[in-house]
Formats: sequence, C-alpha cells, structure tokens
Amino acid sequence: MVRPRRFRRVLSEPDVTFFKPAGIRLVDLEEIVISVDEFEAVRLKDLNGLEQSDCAKKMNISQPTFHRLILSARKKLAEAIVKGKAIRIEGGHFQLSSSQKTCVCHDCGFSVPKERGKPCFTFKCPECSGRMVWG
Ligand SMILES: [Zn+2]
Repeated sequence: MVRPRRFRRVLSEPDVTFFKPAGIRLVDLEEIVISVDEFEAVRLKDLNGLEQSDCAKKMNISQPTFHRLILSARKKLAEAIVKGKAIRIEGGHFQLSSSQKTCVCHDCGFSVPKERGKPCFTFKCPECSGRMVWG
C-alpha cells in the first residue's frame, strides 16, 4: 500500500493537454507524460517568474519538493523538444484550487480532473487501480 502524499495545490487544469510535433505520424511518436502538478510548477516559476519560495507556498509544498518538481518538469520538456516527442499533460498528486472538481484515489491519493457526466466511482485509479472518490 502506498502512503498517501500531501496534495499539491494547482490553480486549474491545463486548457491543452496534448502537444504533437508537426510532420510525424501519431503512431510513430513517443510520448512524454507531464503531471498536472509539474505543469503548475512550470507555469508559476518559468512563465509567471515567481520566486521558488512563493511557488512552493502557492502549491502547498516544501521548497525542496518544489525544486524536484520543476527540475523533473523541465527535463521532460527538454526531452520532448530535443527528441521530438509528443507531450501529454495528465494525472499527478494535486488538488485544484479553482471550482473544478477532481476524483481522488482512496488508496494512494492520485487525482485526476473530474470529467462531466462521468462519476468518480465509474473508473479505477490509473496508478494503483484503487477506488476513486470525490476530491
Ligand atoms: Zn491509486
């Protein structure tokens, strides 16, 4: 059993969740998955230019944790750009601070944005196949 991790606070889920390099067939593409919390780290630090301490506070995590998160996100983005891979943004240990709803795994705390008309209990946790409940 995986110990539940503290949720990382994310303002809202990304508008675009899939990026595909031009001129490469989808079947020939490798995909890099960036979690929604990694996406939020890049948004706060690299796009908005906030201090790392402020980013960590906004996401309700420690500075070392934020540092690991942003490094992991940047490495994935770099790999996608350099090696021409597609980028998919999904999943992660986060809780939305906006009005959007999330479904959270009862067992490991993994969360995904709730889809309209798709109750949380109708699917299993992508990480551990645990029971999903309202976040
Ligand atoms: Zn789970």
